[in-house]
Amino acid sequence: MQTSRFVFVAALSASVCLAASKINAVTTTEDLAAIAREVGGDRITVEAIAKGYQDPHFVEPKPSFLLKLQKADLLMLVGLELEIGWLPPLITQSRNPRIQPGAKGYLDMSQFCQVLDVPTGAITRAMGDVHPLGNPHYWLDPENGRRMAKALQAKFSEMQNGDAAYFAEHEADFEKRLTEAEKGWDAKMAPYAGRKVVTYHRSFSNFAARFKLVIADYVEPKPGIPPTPSHTLEVINHMKQDGIKLILVEPFFDMRTPDSIARATGGTAMVLLPMVGGEKQVTNYFQLFDYDINLLTMAFAKYK
Ligand SMILES: [Zn+2]
Repeated sequence: MQTSRFVFVAALSASVCLAASKINAVTTTEDLAAIAREVGGDRITVEAIAKGYQDPHFVEPKPSFLLKLQKADLLMLVGLELEIGWLPPLITQSRNPRIQPGAKGYLDMSQFCQVLDVPTGAITRAMGDVHPLGNPHYWLDPENGRRMAKALQAKFSEMQNGDAAYFAEHEADFEKRLTEAEKGWDAKMAPYAGRKVVTYHRSFSNFAARFKLVIADYVEPKPGIPPTPSHTLEVINHMKQDGIKLILVEPFFDMRTPDSIARATGGTAMVLLPMVGGEKQVTNYFQLFDYDINLLTMAFAKYK
């Protein structure tokens, strides 16, 4: 009787211990959650605050976000002020000491990544809503995905050392699959190297650099500033002059101006996804590139 009770208690506490030993992570975007899932497997739980079809610069805070943050062991954010309009008050209001800036559970992923478009010189209001620390849309280069996975492996292992071997194995497997997938993406994109495109916002700088596209112009006259008739006319002229045919639009922007530019230039305005979750079927990091590269190469193929 004594023995069986002991065994029962031991088994119970072991299971409690196991249940409690999952890292509870919250991310601002679905891309970060997707990479965390690759590395963390079933040893973490992870939820994203913003949906992949939402504009990550402007996310309307909800009480459910606070609940998530209150329980989190780890908060992963994109940083570079992408979330500055909505995240800081939520972190403060969560009163969760584990995820306050400077705490172990506050992880700004930009520190691990190659960041483009870092402005040189003084930043003025005339430059629009420019990201002063550089372009925060850096996850659209698989190399940055790889760097983030490595950083997460280190962070998860630090938080839960007993699972370090598990995280290392998952990270290595992710890298292997990513390297393999990149070969396919490179092969598909290679025929279109050097093609010029127009994008709505500066979401695709890292993607373009990685896959050798040239972003010749933007529908926004300045970052974060809605289209104006005079700038739209400039874009139309620019596209006509250089024979540019594709206007790539993030899912959360109005298509009217891009469509009017397409009509004026004989080109195509199309939605390209900057984030995992931008379409229902795009649920992981690999599917994001699969989806975008598929759409792009089909569109490029229409124009010689
Ligand atoms: Zn932006």
